[in-house]
Amino acid sequence: MNLLIMGAPGSGKGTMSERIIAEYDLLHISTGDLLRQAVKEKTPTGLKAQEYMSQGHLVPDEIIHDLISWRLSQDDAKKGFLMDGYPRTLAQAKDFDNICQRLNIKLDMIIQLDLDEEVIAKRITGRRVCKNCGAIYHIDTKPSKVAGVCDECGGELYTRADDTLESLKVRLAEYEESTRPLLDHYDGQVKIERIDGDGTIDSVFASIKSILDGIR
Ligand SMILES: [Zn+2]
Repeated sequence: MNLLIMGAPGSGKGTMSERIIAEYDLLHISTGDLLRQAVKEKTPTGLKAQEYMSQGHLVPDEIIHDLISWRLSQDDAKKGFLMDGYPRTLAQAKDFDNICQRLNIKLDMIIQLDLDEEVIAKRITGRRVCKNCGAIYHIDTKPSKVAGVCDECGGELYTRADDTLESLKVRLAEYEESTRPLLDHYDGQVKIERIDGDGTIDSVFASIKSILDGIR
């Protein structure tokens, strides 16, 4: 089973990805992880990528293409994968089509997590992070015992710069803008399942599971 998951920032994509790969024993492919690994292992691609990143530039598509292509050609990708955070643009989607064609891989389904902007805003702006240990809290759904203080280590809790409403609005608009052409590209080519991301982790995962069990 080869899947691709899409979802706006704050839609719960990360959490659902973890649940899906655990349930179906899939390889989790995220460009962020691949880049970090390549840089750490100082592979030729990793060294090239690091040059761009150290200058504050985006890593070009050719490098991402090489990383994805390499990862998908490894043996453990044969058990099936969940692609997370890639492709992000139409150009990357076309790259990905080429990789799949060359490696004879068929993408079975795209899972799109839908969530209202208001719900996302509540999730994101209520998030608090420990300055000391990085533990994550939420003022409504997972409050610390003492407001502003980490349960784990007593560290100070703060709101990340990215977790403000203003920053979120920009990120959501960017996401919308980049996702629409992607969905158009895959429309009619790959089955796209829209999942309502509003609910508990268990209930959202149950909706995903009922669909995936059907294609397994
Ligand atoms: Zn802490």
